[in-house]
Amino acid sequence: MKLSQAHQMMQKLFRQFAETEFTTELLDKLEETGEFDRDIHDKMSKCGFMGVKIPVAYGGQGGDNLAYVLMVEEFARVSPVLSLYTNTPNSLAAGPLLYCGTEEQKQKYVVPVAKGDKLISFGLTEPGAGSDAGGILTTAVPDGDYYVLNGRKTFISAAPFSDYSIIYAKTDKTQRGSRGISMFIVDMKLPGVSFGKDEAKMGLIGYPTSDIILEDVRVHKSDLLGPLHKGFATAMKTLDGGRLGVAAQSVGIAQGCLDESIKYAKERKQFGQPIAKFQAVSFMIATMATEIEAARELVYNTAAIENTESADYTTRCAMAKYFASEMCNRVAYNAVQIHGGYGFIKEYKVERFYRDARITSIYEGTSQVQQMVISGNLLK
Ligand SMILES: Cc1cc2nc3c(=O)[nH]c(=O)nc-3n(C[C@H](O)[C@H](O)[C@H](O)COP(=O)(O)OP(=O)(O)OC[C@H]3O[C@@H](n4cnc5c(N)ncnc54)[C@H](O)[C@@H]3O)c2cc1C
Repeated sequence: MKLSQAHQMMQKLFRQFAETEFTTELLDKLEETGEFDRDIHDKMSKCGFMGVKIPVAYGGQGGDNLAYVLMVEEFARVSPVLSLYTNTPNSLAAGPLLYCGTEEQKQKYVVPVAKGDKLISFGLTEPGAGSDAGGILTTAVPDGDYYVLNGRKTFISAAPFSDYSIIYAKTDKTQRGSRGISMFIVDMKLPGVSFGKDEAKMGLIGYPTSDIILEDVRVHKSDLLGPLHKGFATAMKTLDGGRLGVAAQSVGIAQGCLDESIKYAKERKQFGQPIAKFQAVSFMIATMATEIEAARELVYNTAAIENTESADYTTRCAMAKYFASEMCNRVAYNAVQIHGGYGFIKEYKVERFYRDARITSIYEGTSQVQQMVISGNLLK
């Protein structure tokens, strides 16, 4: 896709920011400590990145979906984990609030998220309900002006340091499956909220993930988000946008792998010549570049779809995530292969990319779930 001048400028800005600010020193610190880095978060917030696609009326930059995917891609090209710092507020946090929050809720919660003053996580997954997200067991029972929440959410990104979480809970047990689920904005400081341990993860280290435990948490009725019993549809709508973000993250990681592989293949000599001269290596690079370009086109074209309410948009977001994340894993595998033994060593960037790539075909719906969404829409 030929980008407009405005989008080209944004792309340049995102690239420059990532190349300047995501220093090796910072990335190594994230990897060593595993902790969320407030300094870089605040720097990104000051530049408006937390609200790139959040409307200006709610504190954001009012950018479109294409601006958002360009940002996630450029950030992931240097640091997949730091791309998440800006991805979550724009998609999973603001999404449900913008889709069905009241004006008061949007002012209260979206504005500080867009500015980076507050963090909101997305609490859907449970120990027994991952791909089958409609099978959640967390309950919310009315009690006067409150709902009382009980349950456990698992693998929640940014949970330990978020101010609020969008929690999905069953409000009508008589309705089966994904029906009878509602959304609540839960203050993470309320009595009865606690967190599991920070998960020791394979990748994305520096953006903690943990369980959220809810024990008799009293949430005021004003923090019910959207219509009662109808929260699951909003979760799915939110995940369309989120999946496009993961697809963009996948393209960025793959591009980072390709950049490193080209550099390395030209430098590394074996049998008296650069390994780039061997057809086996140069063809691997050709395939990587071609697959990245195909995924990028799919991602950009999906981002350009105007009717984000359509089934076509849902299908295309699933296709983009499915293709781009599987591509990203193949490219990361080959990037390590091109680096030989050095690709297995932490000092080389592709080692981290390879680990970070692995999550892309799992979170926000596995590849098998994307295949279910795509085929389900095609075979209706
Ligand atoms: C680092 C990380 C961050 C995350 N962040 C969040 C977050 O912020 N918020 C949140 O709510 N969740 C989050 N998740 C959860 C994530 O979305 C789930 O892990 C994912 O949806 C898969 O669910 P599961 O792990 O329970 O796997 P399962 O659903 O148990 O799947 C296991 C395997 O079975 C396959 N499978 C399952 N059902 C079918 C089927 N019907 N047909 C074919 N194959 C099937 C799957 O594709 C997979 O290969 C995160 C997870 C991780 C690891």
